[in-house]
Amino acid sequence: MEYYSSQLMGLIEELSRLPGVGAKSAQRLAFHIIHMPEDQVEHLAKTMTDVRKNVRYCRECFTLTDREICPICESDKRDHKTIMVVENSRDLAAYEKTGRYDGVYHVLHGAISPALGIGPKDIRLAELMTRLQGDVNEVIIATGSSLEGETTAMYLSKLIKPTGIRVTRIASGVPVGGDLEYIDEVTLLRALEGRTEL
Ligand code: ZN
Repeated sequence: MEYYSSQLMGLIEELSRLPGVGAKSAQRLAFHIIHMPEDQVEHLAKTMTDVRKNVRYCRECFTLTDREICPICESDKRDHKTIMVVENSRDLAAYEKTGRYDGVYHVLHGAISPALGIGPKDIRLAELMTRLQGDVNEVIIATGSSLEGETTAMYLSKLIKPTGIRVTRIASGVPVGGDLEYIDEVTLLRALEGRTEL
């Protein structure tokens, strides 16, 4: 049964495919969109297609960027000999918001999870090991404190230790299974400063 025009139905259907958007929210968003000024809708649509087209992985650290090399990797104000390993770009953003970390990052885009069939080859681990052949003093493992995060941290430390590079792990205190992006900056800083040798 069609309550609305088929185009409107199509929009509701598209929106409801987005994560966290149920049928009701999709309907609310769709009605919001059709009442928006036309130029705003065009701007929204263009922003989405541009982002999709231009955002890619940084050649160095694999965070999301619209350049070949991200601003962090490009900056000469950062300490390129300290690499913090995070699970995703959102975690990187969380540490950047503290404004107190001056090293660089490596984004794994996931964590090892035998239960989900995600192995070391499914995340950006080989790329990290390649980077470590350069001049690196310390690798700070900042994967989450979930089972997957801990598994990845353990795997990484075993892999890196033989290279002689210092390996540290951010202090726990970050709630188990907690998403780093929801943790306040003070807790993040404490976790970073209280990091321990592995
Ligand atoms: Zn980068």
